[in-house]
Amino acid sequence: MEMRTILESKKSIFRIIGKYFLLALIFLSLQTNSAWSFADLGPYDGHESITNEAFSSGIAGVDFSKGAILQIIRINKKADKLIFGEGEQFQHFDDEFLIEGSLYVKYLRLSVKNLLIAGNEVSLDAYQFRGFRARRVLGLALHAIQDYYSHTNWVEAGNTQINFDLGVNELPPPAPSNIPLCTNDSNDLIAGLGVITSGYWEGFGVACAPLSSNQIKCRHGTPITNNCGGLNKDTAVRPNYDTARSLAVTATQKFVEQVINDIKNDPSLSADVKNEAIRLLADQPSSWNCGCVIYI
Ligand SMILES: [Zn+2]
Repeated sequence: MEMRTILESKKSIFRIIGKYFLLALIFLSLQTNSAWSFADLGPYDGHESITNEAFSSGIAGVDFSKGAILQIIRINKKADKLIFGEGEQFQHFDDEFLIEGSLYVKYLRLSVKNLLIAGNEVSLDAYQFRGFRARRVLGLALHAIQDYYSHTNWVEAGNTQINFDLGVNELPPPAPSNIPLCTNDSNDLIAGLGVITSGYWEGFGVACAPLSSNQIKCRHGTPITNNCGGLNKDTAVRPNYDTARSLAVTATQKFVEQVINDIKNDPSLSADVKNEAIRLLADQPSSWNCGCVIYI
């Protein structure tokens, strides 16, 4: 009986420590100026689970190794920790950086392909490192693409499919600055809005305050509560999270499929080079030392 009481009190101590450890983690993460996206913190499931789900049954017939998926997820999540100061908004489609975000993912799509087909390494390590770099670039692109569905009003505009222009074309410019997009201190999207916009992120401390920049625009809003409005669908407590998450999974698969097709459909590449590049991306067993030479 005494032993049971000791065990139970030990358990509750661990529960309390665990609870405060989680709160401390959340607090520490909020102290950075880094952006917020589909959150992978404590009880929240975000970029990691979206990416895992997207890759779970292979994409375009290509099975990615567990290690490859892990690398893609690691850099994807790191995108919220990379602090470039002003100008990082395009990586998350924040602050109406719609054109810049779309050009960024288009550029990264091309970069992944170029990394995969360009090389003439003298060692297997160097060859594999090139695959690693390609997956890091892919992870950054996937982060931005996933954020698009959380940070814009694409879902609220009634779209039930992904934006097929993303990764392919430059997106249209945001609405002129005199067009009201949100009311009630930037909290509530104006009903029936015919344009796509995205929320303005001004940091956690002011996430519920009226936007200092332009109060007829929309705020990003606090990701982990529904206490103030805004556009973000970063966690399950936010309205339309399920739809945004589901589109993010589909868009992830679409982008990877496009990268694979960029290689498959390039008439200037030989069949050997194409196969090797896709194997390299997915971290499948390599034929690097089979006598195939990748040289572009
Ligand atoms: Zn983000």
